[in-house]
Amino acid sequence: MKKHIVVIAGDGIGQEVTAVGKQVLDAIAKKYDHEFTYDTALIGHEAIEATGNPIPDETITKSKASDAILFGAVGHPKYDNDPSAKVRPEQGLLGIRKALGLYANLRPIKLFDELLSASSIKPEILKGADILFFRELTGDVYFGERGRKDDGDTAFDTMIYSRYEVERIVIKAFDAAMTRRRKLCSVDKANVLESSRLWREVVQEIAPRYPEVEVEHQFVDAAAMLLIKDPKRFDVVVTGNLFGDILTDEASQIAGSMGMLASASVGDTTGLYEPIHGSAHDITGKGVANPLASVLSVALMLDISFGMKEEANAVVDAVDSVLKAGFRTRDIADATTASDKILGTQAMGEQIL
Ligand code: ATP
Ligand code: MG
Repeated sequence: MKKHIVVIAGDGIGQEVTAVGKQVLDAIAKKYDHEFTYDTALIGHEAIEATGNPIPDETITKSKASDAILFGAVGHPKYDNDPSAKVRPEQGLLGIRKALGLYANLRPIKLFDELLSASSIKPEILKGADILFFRELTGDVYFGERGRKDDGDTAFDTMIYSRYEVERIVIKAFDAAMTRRRKLCSVDKANVLESSRLWREVVQEIAPRYPEVEVEHQFVDAAAMLLIKDPKRFDVVVTGNLFGDILTDEASQIAGSMGMLASASVGDTTGLYEPIHGSAHDITGKGVANPLASVLSVALMLDISFGMKEEANAVVDAVDSVLKAGFRTRDIADATTASDKILGTQAMGEQIL
């Protein structure tokens, strides 16, 4: 298959980990006889320095013309103490999501068995946990009307969802459940919120189209508790923007390090694949960043955007066997790992290749 990929490495360790991700794409193309072509584009601080704009028009044009985007990170410490800076690296990420209409954020939470001992949660609770979150990205309180009244002493944010917004992400979640263990948990607060009642209604309407999928509804408070108590009970979880924001951060701890977690932002066109971690300037340039989140983002790209299941599994299997062989980057190393197996970014990448 022929595919065109735009690589937007961005800031900080984004450059280092994305380089490894691209090498993995090349290896897959070679092994499975695909033709992958690449372009690069600027974003974030890097783009501000070069053009004054965190999301140059050229980046959007190139992205729209591609089959998928491999994304690194945006951010720079110089903005941390300057909340009033009008032009900021993060605008790059929000800008590209908006320009491409990426409405669903997929975050697989999977703990590789080899990393069980690195977690602070009991192994018997974690072992086998494998959850795929679908967080809605374009609606909810983040985009509803907000403001102040009574001379500023009262504030409000409106939680708002349209049927169309709920339908499109719920359908994506059901489709994903069909390729997994055929369980879907929809998370809402329908005992209190009207937007949640609409959410639940839509899930119930769509469910009969997927008779093989076992559907459950959980209130967000119960879901937060169950994630820690019994993460194995979940397969696909679909929820709104606010609940998804909170629950996916909670769930990231099930998988251990930030350096292990990939995500996909998808809509109806080009998908964007990125590690959940940021630019991590504290370790930038040291060659120690864990590249596995970028490698696993490549697996998501192969699976979701290109429909290459076998290739995607090959990448995940490579991560699994490298971990089984005892290789670790510093962030996932623990006392039981021999020090000669602690590798830097590139050396870890070579093991994967
Ligand atoms: P940003 O402002 O872009 O979010 P950040 O400096 O907050 O970046 P994060 O990526 O959010 O950094 O990560 C927090 C910390 O976790 C980092 O400072 C770093 O030490 C560690 N970390 C994050 N990603 C990785 C990785 N891939 N490998 C190793 N350590 C990582
Ligand atoms: Mg951060």
